[in-house]
Amino acid sequence: MAREIIASVRGMRTIWGEEAQRLETLLGLIRQLLQQSAYGPISLPLLEKTSLFQRAVGEETDVVSKEMYTFLDRNEESVTLRPEATAGVVRALIENGLLQQPHRLYSEGPMFRYEKPQKGRYRQFYQVSVEAFGSAAPALDAELIQLGHRLFQKLGVLDLLTLEINSIGLAEERQRFQAALVDYLRRQADALDPDSRRRLDSNPLRILDSKEATTQALLDDAPVLDDYLGVASRTHFQRLCQTLDELGISYRRNPRLVRGLDYYNHTVFEWTTQALGAQGTVCAGGRYDGLVEQLGGPATPASGFAFGVDRIYLLAEQVGFFPAPAPLLYALASREDYLPRLLATAARLREALPALRVQVQTEVQALKKQLQKADKSGARYALILGDDEFQSEHISIKNLQTGQQQTLTPEGLVSFLQEDL
Ligand code: ATP
Ligand code: MG
Repeated sequence: MAREIIASVRGMRTIWGEEAQRLETLLGLIRQLLQQSAYGPISLPLLEKTSLFQRAVGEETDVVSKEMYTFLDRNEESVTLRPEATAGVVRALIENGLLQQPHRLYSEGPMFRYEKPQKGRYRQFYQVSVEAFGSAAPALDAELIQLGHRLFQKLGVLDLLTLEINSIGLAEERQRFQAALVDYLRRQADALDPDSRRRLDSNPLRILDSKEATTQALLDDAPVLDDYLGVASRTHFQRLCQTLDELGISYRRNPRLVRGLDYYNHTVFEWTTQALGAQGTVCAGGRYDGLVEQLGGPATPASGFAFGVDRIYLLAEQVGFFPAPAPLLYALASREDYLPRLLATAARLREALPALRVQVQTEVQALKKQLQKADKSGARYALILGDDEFQSEHISIKNLQTGQQQTLTPEGLVSFLQEDL
């Protein structure tokens, strides 16, 4: 009896074939840019104690209040599949007593959030999260923005993106602003959309980035965060803007830009696009000077951001960034005894020609059948080790596009491919 098929969990994708290849290319490029700027990798667990995110991200945020995958493990401890990486990085640095010196780190991998799945929004998605500890300078915020700018330039998607920046000042400044905002909005609560009305109590700043037109119209006359910023906050922001100007990085100040996570102060930024429908933010971050202390560590200024890799991939795909895969050579032999020599030849080719992919057919069949398989595989060449070739220590190569075939010595084969590729 046929068994029922077990499907994947909603919002969890399997990525394979060309998309998987291309994602590797994208991640390789991101890692290269980060390492060139002296950022080093840190590998974090996918699972953390739930209290880490409650304390770091904030109980009132959407992420913690309704998006986390939280469960009791077999020891009845509440654990959570990480919804973001920054909290884990900070936890790790504090736990290992590593905050005496500055750190520039990136951590990549899947994040988990229970959201409504759609294009560019998944329940398991991939971020490369970039963090720098130990500098309070606006130049560090600029450097982080510069990293994104450079990636987007290389991908050819800069024209599709807007860099939005804002200063959300310090916690005390934000609190005073928040009180004034709530005061103003309460008087017109009837005109607010239901989500925003709820946020009046739970997370009023999030009302600022409500998508509802009526709410946005109300905000036109609302108190402005900028008016509540003190001298230090203003100076930090001005320096950041000046630095970006000097770097030739264009930006738009969005006075209503606040971030969904509680831990930010001063600089916040997002790279957004119109090209992906509703899922417009491809990269987001900001400064979080208070977080290390909030998690029990020594006062340490810090700033960071995350690349939303799934969405950046979609953009890069749209502009045709990805190069064709390297040409494939399909190596086959007429007898099983010839396979050791075929494997050795393949190894020599991979050494000499790093831009070639060499696939060895280990299931020996009639040559004709194997050549059909080579054709199907999309390979550019078939390498053939038959009786004559084996006896004479030669090898034949066939161009599967032109049908041309010749028999060469091993050295001759390398030089032929070097010229033909
Ligand atoms: P959004 O407003 O789109 O929900 P966010 O503010 O919740 O984004 P962040 O926590 O700032 O997102 O995460 C940084 C980046 O990670 C986002 O800009 C986005 O590119 C990506 N990202 C966030 N959530 C998802 C998701 N569910 N699926 C795919 N990518 C995501
Ligand atoms: Mg979100």
